[in-house]
Amino acid sequence: MRIKQIINMALIPLVAVSIILTQQSGTIQNRIYKIDGFNYLSANEFASSQHIRTEFYDHNQKLVLRFPKKKTVLSADCSFLKVQDVIYQLPAPVIYDGSDFYVPALTFSRILNLENLTEVTVDINREQVTTRSPDYNIYGVSVGNRTNGSIVTIQTSRKFSNDDVAISFNQAGWMSLTVLGGKVDSINVVESKIQNPIRRLNCVQRDESAQLSFLLQYAIDDYEISFDDTAIVISLRTDIVETARKIKDMRNKWMLDTIVIDAGHGGKDPGAIGVCNLQEKTVALDIAKKLGRLIEKNMGTKVVYTREEDRFIPLWKRTRIANESGGKLFISIHANTSAKSSRARGFETYLLRPGKTQDAIDVAKLENSVIALEDDPQDQARYSDENIILATMAQSAFMKESEFLAAEIQKQLNKKLSSKNRGVKQAGFHVLVGASMPNVLIEVGFLSNKRDCRELGKASSRNKIAQAIYSAIVIFKDKYESTIIGENQ
Ligand SMILES: [Zn+2]
Repeated sequence: MRIKQIINMALIPLVAVSIILTQQSGTIQNRIYKIDGFNYLSANEFASSQHIRTEFYDHNQKLVLRFPKKKTVLSADCSFLKVQDVIYQLPAPVIYDGSDFYVPALTFSRILNLENLTEVTVDINREQVTTRSPDYNIYGVSVGNRTNGSIVTIQTSRKFSNDDVAISFNQAGWMSLTVLGGKVDSINVVESKIQNPIRRLNCVQRDESAQLSFLLQYAIDDYEISFDDTAIVISLRTDIVETARKIKDMRNKWMLDTIVIDAGHGGKDPGAIGVCNLQEKTVALDIAKKLGRLIEKNMGTKVVYTREEDRFIPLWKRTRIANESGGKLFISIHANTSAKSSRARGFETYLLRPGKTQDAIDVAKLENSVIALEDDPQDQARYSDENIILATMAQSAFMKESEFLAAEIQKQLNKKLSSKNRGVKQAGFHVLVGASMPNVLIEVGFLSNKRDCRELGKASSRNKIAQAIYSAIVIFKDKYESTIIGENQ
């Protein structure tokens, strides 16, 4: 190591030069402090004006000034100063006042000039030290994360624009930013604290431009770049973050996690009365409970019943129960009757739409006639024909799902029952109005038909019906959940 004595060096030329330099632009002035008869400079003020990073070590009271090429060490109460491995003697000790370091101004300036760290002149009369502005204009990087992506901020000392900057991405995952007129303080930039999604950071100074390269953890979906007086800001939208969020949203929204089972009629409303003395409300409730138990036991899905005992529930209240429970599927179970023919038999599944055929309209009229039993006359207003049309429109969002489920129920019932498959139909059933989820109404058989009535009277037949509906729901769940996620990938 060498120790340089520079106290006796001539100061006159320095002062003379300073008069010229302070009038130029691109210079910075730091004030001089008089301490114990010496002229001192604040190390922190100097460092911050030059964008020089500092490191303070409390245990031995040292301050390191990180110049782009060399590190300079100041020690409290010490009359030596170290630049890399060269030690300089100072005319007076460095003073540390608990928050800042003060270094003898004239000698310090001389050392900075000698080491080519920056150009400094001292003007004792005006009590200031003049330094040329640092010749770099890019001096740090920071990374911040938001829910929908990341923000990379490149600190600059001037405003750049779109015309100065080119950004590119390569297959290896690097994002490169070329800044025309950029002078990068490579030590400070490379040592910037980075975090996900930036894994590595490189920079290269070229004659007319600076290049900053960022190795990214994820593929970038999209980016935006903006500029202000002190920064170039790159907003990155990362694919993985965005996609994961979308899938999570869709899953939460569309998981078939609650199924509402509506047993038709009940209490003072028996529904259809069978030729074999069987009541619709009893058949419907038994199948509803059998179906519910199958779902809960095998699918682990929550089941909500609109009624679990022989009780009267107004039609409007049934869909309200479904909506308020967060239901994702509404299944209404009924049994049919025909005034026209005792030979009519079989099972059919209905969708909510204005009725197409007279038969379908008649079935809906019959099922809707229960409204007359409802106590509150104000409720009657809910059941206008216009309401059916509006409800149909409101349900168009999940009509595709309702159609799929209805078709699948018919298919599964046809497999299990020897009765007649009457197909999927549509009519204005008031019980389906207002259901904010896919919904169907099943007429499991005709109580007006001897054979159907006899079958519906058997627990084994009602079990078969419940199992068929359950199988259809399982197929529906598989298709429905995967389709919705698939659409958003
Ligand atoms: Zn009914």
